[in-house]
Amino acid sequence: MAARIPVLISRNPYEVIVGHDILRRAGEFISQVLPASRCALITDSNIAPLYAETVETSLEAAGFEVTTIIVPPGEPSKALGFIEDVCDQMIEAGLDRRSAVIALGGGVIGDLAGFVASIFYRGIPHVQIPTTVVAQVDSSLGGKTGVNSRKGKNLLGAFHQPSLVITDVNTLDTLPKREFNEGFGEIIKHAAIRDAAMLEDLLAETSPDLGELISRNVKIKARIVAEDEFERHGLRALLNFGHTIGHAIENAAGYGRYLHGEAISLGLVAAARISVKKADLSEESAEKIITALKAYNLPTSLPADITTDTLLAALSRDKKFESGAIRFVVVPELGEAFVSKDVTEEDLREAIESLR
Ligand code: ADP
Ligand code: ZN
Repeated sequence: MAARIPVLISRNPYEVIVGHDILRRAGEFISQVLPASRCALITDSNIAPLYAETVETSLEAAGFEVTTIIVPPGEPSKALGFIEDVCDQMIEAGLDRRSAVIALGGGVIGDLAGFVASIFYRGIPHVQIPTTVVAQVDSSLGGKTGVNSRKGKNLLGAFHQPSLVITDVNTLDTLPKREFNEGFGEIIKHAAIRDAAMLEDLLAETSPDLGELISRNVKIKARIVAEDEFERHGLRALLNFGHTIGHAIENAAGYGRYLHGEAISLGLVAAARISVKKADLSEESAEKIITALKAYNLPTSLPADITTDTLLAALSRDKKFESGAIRFVVVPELGEAFVSKDVTEEDLREAIESLR
């Protein structure tokens, strides 16, 4: 059985279908929301041999004409050069404004293919088929698409909501362990800001059912996105818990050292400590967040060569300090979060030092 979770944005709401072994039904599901047409199936060279054929066959059976486009795996593919290459291949294959894009892969493919869909012939529909934990619980939902600039990550892009998200939990079976664990950075973040009971489940001796866990996270993210599609009301900003210091660590460490979820793990530890100091989170609750991160082999301490000054410099490039303080997401109690306006540079320094 597949669960259908709605993402109730005001214009063009869509569904996330979560289930086991549903990749082979992709064509059937997509034909329920899009007219059969030409489509580009965009994926990377790791995922293509595993899953592309299943999706192609299913799309063709539903009447779609499929052009499969394969890009190299990894973050360097999230660049304008690849966007242009992919668009050229689509034009050569005869795709036009009546065509659609299907993104099959992790966060890199979802962001790149979604951005292609947002600009191709001024915008065509797309469907996300996420195959990593990060993509299933986070990046495939919410319509943020884009690529990196040479000056920084995710600086070029567009909001472009998918028409459908198809989340086959079985695709996670082939995900390398490190990439699997990485996704729990975002899951533990969701637990900390919205679902204290989920944190208890993650800490329990028997690990929670993966399908239920993914659905539960999809619901959390879907609700937040629906209420604040364009990140205007501050609700969506709560999803940045752990990300202020996490992003600084990603930037300072350089590409390839930490996966996103690993850097976020460090950011979550620091944000939990800042929450204790600035929002009265209990020490015990902060420890629960840290214990859960450790249970998924995520880093909780920072090596000496990434200096505190480098991180603070990266932070102030990224965030505006207003009269000595920044806006920073804190958790006063597990399952609740708000944006504090009085986290100072000294608080940040202290939290980063606590990671040593
Ligand atoms: P993320 O979703 O974590 O942001 P990526 O899109 O870079 O990241 O995917 C992480 C890596 O895992 C890439 O090398 C990608 O090719 C590979 N990958 C993605 N999904 C799967 C899968 N289901 N099975 C095996 N490898 C996968
Ligand atoms: Zn993140």
